[in-house]
Amino acid sequence: VTRFLTGITTSGTPHIGNYVGALRPALEASRRPGIENFYFLADYHALIKCDEPARVQRSTLEIAACWLAIGLDPEHVFFYRQSDIPEIPELTWLLTCVTGKGLLNRAHAYKAQVDKNNAAGVDADADVTAGLFMYPVLMAADILLFKAHKIPVGRDQVQHIEMARDMASSFNHLYGEHLVLPEAAIDDTVALLPGTDGRKMSKSYDNVIPLFAPREQMRKQIFAIVTDSRAPGEPKAVEGSALFQIYEAFASNEETAQLRKAYADGISWADAKQVLFERIDREIAPMRERYDALIADPQQIEQVLRRGADKARTRATPFMAELRAAVGLRNLA
Ligand code: ATP
Repeated sequence: VTRFLTGITTSGTPHIGNYVGALRPALEASRRPGIENFYFLADYHALIKCDEPARVQRSTLEIAACWLAIGLDPEHVFFYRQSDIPEIPELTWLLTCVTGKGLLNRAHAYKAQVDKNNAAGVDADADVTAGLFMYPVLMAADILLFKAHKIPVGRDQVQHIEMARDMASSFNHLYGEHLVLPEAAIDDTVALLPGTDGRKMSKSYDNVIPLFAPREQMRKQIFAIVTDSRAPGEPKAVEGSALFQIYEAFASNEETAQLRKAYADGISWADAKQVLFERIDREIAPMRERYDALIADPQQIEQVLRRGADKARTRATPFMAELRAAVGLRNLA
């Protein structure tokens, strides 16, 4: 059996980029035979960039409701909140002790901040917490604790999966073959959606189209997508058009070809936005109804998460005991 693992950071409201890039493909994967799926709400990761407790809590609820609303069956998969699994920070420490600091110096997320600081002429580590620096180790623990083989990620995350492999190899070299070496599973057919401002749509930027906003709000947000100044009747370019890229992620090939033609024929931006809104709404509307019912009943979601944590720990607890023994720590049982 092959194990797949997907996490979503609880740092804000889930958006259509998360849906297209993570939720939808993961759900399709969960229906294939011979696969075990692990889906988790990455709330420890959220703390790296978010210090608003209410936001983390709200986001946890919203992301859990999204998974359930799109049709995830928690009985058939492992579905849990990261912070409900104490073995994750425990394994993080064991991995920290076999990870070279130099390896972490090269991590993209950390380097990006250092480069930014250098460009601004401030101290290289300004605004860098140890949490940001250690993020690849926490991510490795998420993966290695559940012996996941495949991690569906975008290209920007491939380096972190390779680091998890490095950490697993170091650990195995020192203590014996305990950890499974994971691989990134990159699906090039999965699009990286631009946000309403043209940058990558991201919970941390103010540029998202929330997946389950009320219908009218979704319409407004779609109408806020930046476009160029071409007037109705003037041909529009599909290259670099955020609106077109988002449409492609939802539409069939035939529908996409139609919009391409409409662009060439000079469709007005308002009409193009209306087409996009209707296409997304067609796919989302039935799920939105389920989402609204779920989000109104936080206790039910909480119950699902508690059960999910118990189920995940049937794997995590005995494996952590094995790892503790391997490094020479006392057995907690
Ligand atoms: P944050 O701003 O907190 O990093 P995010 O919205 O960028 O959040 P993550 O929680 O880091 O998203 O990622 C969850 C999943 O959603 C990942 O699999 C990621 O590849 C996918 N994802 C995130 N943003 C997009 C996007 N704009 N288009 C497609 N997929 C995306």
